[in-house]
Amino acid sequence: MQIVCLDLEGVLVPEIWIKFAEKTGIEALKATTRDIPDYDVLMKQRLRILDENNLDLAAIQDVIAGLEPMPGAKAFLDGLREKYQVIILSDTFYEFAKPLMAQLAWPTLFCHKLEVSDAGRVTNYLLRQKDPKRQSVKALKALNYTVFAAGDSYNDTTMLEEAHAGFLFRAPQNVIDEFPQYKVTTDYTELAGFFDEAAARASAG
Ligand SMILES: [Mg+2]
Repeated sequence: MQIVCLDLEGVLVPEIWIKFAEKTGIEALKATTRDIPDYDVLMKQRLRILDENNLDLAAIQDVIAGLEPMPGAKAFLDGLREKYQVIILSDTFYEFAKPLMAQLAWPTLFCHKLEVSDAGRVTNYLLRQKDPKRQSVKALKALNYTVFAAGDSYNDTTMLEEAHAGFLFRAPQNVIDEFPQYKVTTDYTELAGFFDEAAARASAG
């Protein structure tokens, strides 16, 4: 029994905050964990900026609905889902991902949640658990699944480590250099091939 776990942003869809900042022209929303390493500080700043710009959840979702999955992402995902159970493990929030999940035909998504007021304002965020990607892979292994995973960044490396086989997809050079143990590709067809090879090895072993 084999499961593929995929990161979302940078693998199937663009970085949501960066695209959102471009679409709205709000420069301050371009800050990422590279600029503000403390995720809590960064998220509080983002939520404050959204509020200052009078962007409630519906307005935010409207902007995100104008974003599209990366070219080829839907076909890649559809192909994988014919052969494997696929779960997307992401550090985004259900409410932000929703318009993009609709375009990907609603794959299973494990991520975090926003707190929204009755008036539709985003008031806080709730992380599902610590180190969620690793914990998810661990839990799937406990259910007797063989797990293969792919992601593009630092927040994926514990998932790749925990999986039976892990791959980097369109990763920045610093991540590739720091984690040379993972095969890397920028091409969906090649990544699908990596999963098939790992699956064949796992079945044979
Ligand atoms: Mg990513």
